[in-house]
Amino acid sequence: MKKSLFLLIITGLSIKVSAQSTNGHDHAHDQKVYFPDVPGFYTLSCDFHMHTVFSDGSVWPNIRVQEANREGLDCISTTEHLEYQPHSKDIPHPDRNRSFELASHAARNSELIVVAGSEITRSMPPGHTNAIFIEDANPILQDNAMDAFREARKQNAFVFTNHPMWTAQRKDGIAKYEPMHLELIEKGMLHGIEVVNETTFSDEAIALALKYDLTFIGTSDIHGLTDWLYDIPHGGHRPVTLVFSAERTKEGMKAALFNKQTVVWYKDMFIGRKEWLDPLLHNSLEVSALGYDGDTSVLSVEINNPTHSHYIIQNKSDYTFHEDPSIMIIEPQSTKILSVKTLERFDSVILPFTFLNAMYAPDTYPTIFYELSTKNDPDTSN
Ligand SMILES: [Zn+2]
Ligand SMILES: [Zn+2]
Repeated sequence: MKKSLFLLIITGLSIKVSAQSTNGHDHAHDQKVYFPDVPGFYTLSCDFHMHTVFSDGSVWPNIRVQEANREGLDCISTTEHLEYQPHSKDIPHPDRNRSFELASHAARNSELIVVAGSEITRSMPPGHTNAIFIEDANPILQDNAMDAFREARKQNAFVFTNHPMWTAQRKDGIAKYEPMHLELIEKGMLHGIEVVNETTFSDEAIALALKYDLTFIGTSDIHGLTDWLYDIPHGGHRPVTLVFSAERTKEGMKAALFNKQTVVWYKDMFIGRKEWLDPLLHNSLEVSALGYDGDTSVLSVEINNPTHSHYIIQNKSDYTFHEDPSIMIIEPQSTKILSVKTLERFDSVILPFTFLNAMYAPDTYPTIFYELSTKNDPDTSN
């Protein structure tokens, strides 16, 4: 008895889900990584740090392209270690552009954009650094670290500090900059910093990004398979940098990175500057009033989440809810009805929510305002 009831519920559920996905929702919503665009800019999901057998990774570059396409990414860069080549006896390749060439070729029939990049792999300082949007990886391989940075600048590369919290180079896990980093920033040779790398996160790196006015970057630095490390088949996701680009092109993305137009998405947490984080969050949840229930002053509000992220939101309005406490979790790709006790019947209502899974800085959470018209009767609109 119980079993058949359970099956009935599951069947009903799957019908509802499939009806929703064919009903006005475009293909993008079926991707693993989907976020809406923000006014004037495309929201492009990018992973600018990963490895293949052309340095110390375990897969051929085409697998990186296939992973990215399965996960719905817009852009990747296979950033092999220039100086660290453990597979070079088995896979000799004097040309350090080879990984990029193979990945570009593998992506030729897909929407995926592949940008050229390398990891300048040094002891601390400066530690590891990625240079992306490079023209030629070979001359960036230099004996002297500063010469490598000079060459990257000559190629107009976008350069960012990798895993400044890595315990192999920082025993205490605390990200910090040394005089050499500050010199690089001063000379315009260092532009961003990973606040998230693989499965690590750093409050201190976020503080450094803000102090030195650097672009927030989050990457997978994947060496094995993303499915395994991030449990993607069960709803996990790799860290990505969401880039807000005026164009869906390499040039557009590069300009956006230099302008610090990014938000990092990691374990369903969003890290970014207010200017970009606010519109992203605002558009990620579609909040609308359905109307008042009968002759009551209880307003039905629909919260639709077309993205694949959870959101933890806290009510900051003066109203209380009829069915929910003030903090709630909005599930990925879900629709929730909220009953708001507005005490009077208003024509419009403003609902502010603090997003507890988003931050401008450590312990600094955004509050987003949704302005709702309660007059949603379609019969009166003509
Ligand atoms: Zn590294
Ligand atoms: Zn790496």
